[in-house]
Amino acid sequence: NEEYLRKPEWLKIKLNTNKNYTGLKKMMREKNLHTVCEEARCPNIHECWAVRKTATFMILGKVCTRGCRFCAVQTGLPNELDWEEPERVAESVEIMGLRHVVVTAVARDDLKDGGAAVFAETIRAIRRRNPGCSIEVLPSDMAGDYESLHTLMDAKPDIFNHNIETVRRLTPKVRARATYDRSLELLRRVKEIAPDVPTKSSIMVGLGETKEEIYEAMDDLLAHNVDIMTIGQYLQPTRKHLKVERYYRPEEFGELRKVAFQKGFKHCQAGPLVRSSYHADEQVSEAAKR
Ligand code: SF4
Ligand code: SF4
Repeated sequence: NEEYLRKPEWLKIKLNTNKNYTGLKKMMREKNLHTVCEEARCPNIHECWAVRKTATFMILGKVCTRGCRFCAVQTGLPNELDWEEPERVAESVEIMGLRHVVVTAVARDDLKDGGAAVFAETIRAIRRRNPGCSIEVLPSDMAGDYESLHTLMDAKPDIFNHNIETVRRLTPKVRARATYDRSLELLRRVKEIAPDVPTKSSIMVGLGETKEEIYEAMDDLLAHNVDIMTIGQYLQPTRKHLKVERYYRPEEFGELRKVAFQKGFKHCQAGPLVRSSYHADEQVSEAAKR
């Protein structure tokens, strides 16, 4: 019912347009770089950029070959590959003084390697200029091409993140061209290639899943050796995107987090505004400790 589906109080947050990062936003435009923080109008931007010193860069252009029904990224034919991008990202990480950076990308199904070579080069460039900054990657499923996965893993990211996004039953409705099992298999292979690299995955809730299905997703991730799970509220980016079926209360997220720990995850973030990259700095050190 309408009443229930009105945006609850805990999601009404003011966008912080702090001067601290208007300069950084200008730099992003000048360098032709894209961040998820800005594109997705992430409500955590102030906390992440200014306080926690973390940001999520979206490389390989801003046009995606897929059109997932929850995602606000533009779909179409992407631009040509930009081999200068890795260095520009690395420079920006340096200027921002980041301690943790997440590198994600649109799905480049038009490229044979899915963009893995540029991904790897970005990791190397960041590391050269920012030896103290931890690097988390959040790639697409690379169309199930495990040679591409090796190319990426050769650059030795500190943490590997790949989102299953939703429970098994809802995957075909929510994600385009990706399958639940292929994503799980990707995560499993990462652990096989690099057992010391923590793996991480995320789901959005509020798309019509049941609690049992969420628990099943937890079990599936654990069965594929995933270390960290994040759970956040799905928010509809525009009217054309999937509707929110339900807003979870903060206590319900607390409950999910508790169950995740009980089941065996090394770390779990769950909350209305939790995004895949939220408090990511903390997750790396926690996962490493255990
Ligand atoms: Fe950026 Fe992620 Fe932080 Fe949002 S939670 S501001 S997307 S790093
Ligand atoms: Fe968005 Fe990723 Fe789906 Fe592309 S593949 S539409 S970037 S979620």
